[in-house]
Amino acid sequence: MMKASWILGLLLACFWMPANAAWLAGAARADITPVESVPLAGYGGKTRMSQRVDHPIWLKSLALRDESGATSVLVTADLVGLSDKMIAIIAKNAAEKHHIPRERLILNCSHNHSCPVTEDVLWLYYEFTPQEVAAKNRYTAMVYAKYDEVIGAAIAALAPAELRFDQGLAGLAVNRRRARGPESRALGGQVDQDVPVIAVKASESLKAIVFGYSCHTTALGGLSINGDYAGFAQFELEKTFPGCVAMFVQNCGGDANPLPRIRGHDAEAVDLADRYGRILAEAVRQVLAGTMTPLSGPLKVAMGETELPLQEGIPLQELKQRLPNLTGMPRREFEHFIRQHETAGGTPDRVRYPIQVWRFGPELTYMALTGETVVDYSLKFKASNGWNTTWVSGYNNDLLSYVPSLRVLREGGYEGVSGMFEYGHRGPYTEAVEDLITAKVAELLAKTR
Ligand SMILES: [Zn+2]
Repeated sequence: MMKASWILGLLLACFWMPANAAWLAGAARADITPVESVPLAGYGGKTRMSQRVDHPIWLKSLALRDESGATSVLVTADLVGLSDKMIAIIAKNAAEKHHIPRERLILNCSHNHSCPVTEDVLWLYYEFTPQEVAAKNRYTAMVYAKYDEVIGAAIAALAPAELRFDQGLAGLAVNRRRARGPESRALGGQVDQDVPVIAVKASESLKAIVFGYSCHTTALGGLSINGDYAGFAQFELEKTFPGCVAMFVQNCGGDANPLPRIRGHDAEAVDLADRYGRILAEAVRQVLAGTMTPLSGPLKVAMGETELPLQEGIPLQELKQRLPNLTGMPRREFEHFIRQHETAGGTPDRVRYPIQVWRFGPELTYMALTGETVVDYSLKFKASNGWNTTWVSGYNNDLLSYVPSLRVLREGGYEGVSGMFEYGHRGPYTEAVEDLITAKVAELLAKTR
């Protein structure tokens, strides 16, 4: 291993000739491993209390300052997602304490299913005892403090750096809708197996690696804390490049799973997730060993919001009629809709949908979509904007719902239709969903040119 890293270091030194752009970059990481047993996130059903830690989980931050003097911050997290409430608290703090405007702050989560529950994320999934709520609240308070710490530390570490971009490929993502059973085999198997990589280099060493992939972090689902395959990949890269902060960005993995998976065999399942992580890390290492394209800057940013209309929900009378026959999560969903009718006069008919675009120059446009975006959005925007110059990330901002394309919506199933109740929405999006997102992306792209 030592020899391999030494050779890779030598290769990097050969390929990384100085580039012109005047970037300052700083990277930091903060350990968010819980210090007690906490409720685990991501899967509904019986509460899973953590029993052990396979490896630490992290918040990681990259601060960038271009020649215009503007500072932008990307934070990645080994968390399942953030809620609207959490985003507001973190963004307010970043603005007031660290002077980062909202459009220059991107908050991405790996969608890790082996992390603790925070605040009100996926609140309909869980039914907690008061003790479990207290553990969740203690953990959430720690996470807020660590967001503050990691953003501040990355800004404090700003120093001259080079940024480069290129992409590799890794084959672990499988379209999970197709894998659901015989009746799903007629569905297409669309996946995006690109591994986009931004390398940040200073003083002949790698300061940070930002790499992405479009696939649910659901290789594991036991009672352990870990970062799933994305955590193993980050761990592997930080082992190869000591001192480097390796940051995983979840892209449009809404309808992809790492497959095959092993259920009910913990040691074997962890070993498989580790292997998936090492495959992804190897794809990143191969990109880093290539020439990569210098990013010229300046970093032009735009943020906007569209509203996604929802189809009609179940009428109040029917909700009340069906409620007594329900238990668990469906019962909590119906109670939520009834509460909305009784307190707000009805269920909301639309969802706010934020989008961010960061343009690093002609070499890379980085799009940050919100929620559990399916693969079609990544393929669509790369096709229209440039396969080798576009990075489409999902799972930014709040984990508001699955975000189906028109195709997925029409096909039906979990990601288009049945998953909406779990997020507290009265029904599926209307068929305008893809066009509305596409129009807003086009508007924001135009602002960054
Ligand atoms: Zn998901």
